[in-house]
Amino acid sequence: MDRTVGLLGGGQLGQMLCEAANPLGVKVVILDAENSPAKQVNAKASHITGSFTDPEKIRELARQCDILTVEIEHVDTHVLEEIAEEGVEIQSADGKITRKKVQVQPNWKTLRTIQDKFLQKEHLTKHGVETAVSQAVESDKSGLERVGKELGFPFMLKARKDAYDGRGNFPVMSAQDIPDALEALKGRGLYAEKWASFKMELAVMVVKTSDNTLAYPAVETIHQDSICKLVYCPPRGISTQLQEKAQDLARKAVGSMWGNGVFGVELFVMEDETIILNEIAPRPHNSGHYTIEACPTMSQYKSQLLSILDIMPSFPGNKIPSLSPATVMLNILGGASKTSHNALVQSAVATPNAALHMYGKESKPARKIGHITLVAQTMAEAEKAMNPMIALADEMRM
Ligand code: ATP
Ligand code: MG
Ligand code: MG
Repeated sequence: MDRTVGLLGGGQLGQMLCEAANPLGVKVVILDAENSPAKQVNAKASHITGSFTDPEKIRELARQCDILTVEIEHVDTHVLEEIAEEGVEIQSADGKITRKKVQVQPNWKTLRTIQDKFLQKEHLTKHGVETAVSQAVESDKSGLERVGKELGFPFMLKARKDAYDGRGNFPVMSAQDIPDALEALKGRGLYAEKWASFKMELAVMVVKTSDNTLAYPAVETIHQDSICKLVYCPPRGISTQLQEKAQDLARKAVGSMWGNGVFGVELFVMEDETIILNEIAPRPHNSGHYTIEACPTMSQYKSQLLSILDIMPSFPGNKIPSLSPATVMLNILGGASKTSHNALVQSAVATPNAALHMYGKESKPARKIGHITLVAQTMAEAEKAMNPMIALADEMRM
């Protein structure tokens, strides 16, 4: 396939995207820091060193590519709008300057809407997708006291932008927490969410093509300190009807966006089994890593490539099935020391049917540096094999 994809961001999601691009013969050019994880596994292209928020670097990337995509939503969408709508200046051999339009997938409007979590919530509400009740806040003591009265305590104070792994969330348990919350999220645009007392968190990967949406299975996600720790596919102890409801809601939410690509949709299952949406990521997602082993012919990374190139195949019932009856994924987070994770890595290598993915990142406390996916014939078998590794992951936490 003679197409060149420009990728904004070269972290682990970009790395796994490159691993999916290689067998397809798709060339990926990456814009990120020198030696970022994605660059480490892709020596086929002349990558660009710089930031995915730097307009000039993004233009430089666009000049080399047929299509631009992202592995992170915190990018400069204004320059992406300019490149998609007006084009980027290129100079031909005879010195003539022309403009080349480069497709941005998903569309810059999608990236702009999603990267501001409050705008995202307003958009979803307008399209009939229920989310946690959200409201704009004044970032001062009396503003937050008012929110406490209106939404009740606890509520979740969130940064509108640049949030990941819970860095941008502050649970405000009572009025006493307000000064700490303001200090922790100082200088960031904020909004507040009503506390969601969910009984389970689910996630669904959705692929958006130019005229359709396809859902991967619903998975159960377990977060600790706002960071995803474990993923179970299928979810444990909920009906297939509820799983299908989650897939339908995720497809509806992604269907309201613009352009093509793969999306991670995070959902809360409430006590009464209603499902509300937490947030959407317009890119591959941690909760979709399991698809590398469970959907070996159509991982989330391959889906991102095929959808943005507009050659995604159709699937019966618009569902991409898991070929593994039971799958569990465990994230490897950096521990107190640079070597804390060694025992866990050794255990993964020694476990049959466990696939280890290390990202080539320096270990820092609580940083995602790898993951382990375990496939089995039954969930009982999968849990039995994964539990000793979960115990090791718990031991290495600071
Ligand atoms: P990600 O790494 O998924 O992008 P993030 O920093 O964007 O994370 P959120 O997804 O907003 O953070 O929240 C992280 C976790 O915090 C959720 O998965 C959930 O466990 C908890 N959480 C978020 N919002 C609420 C809420 N309104 N009520 C209760 N818990 C919440
Ligand atoms: Mg997020
Ligand atoms: Mg999240």
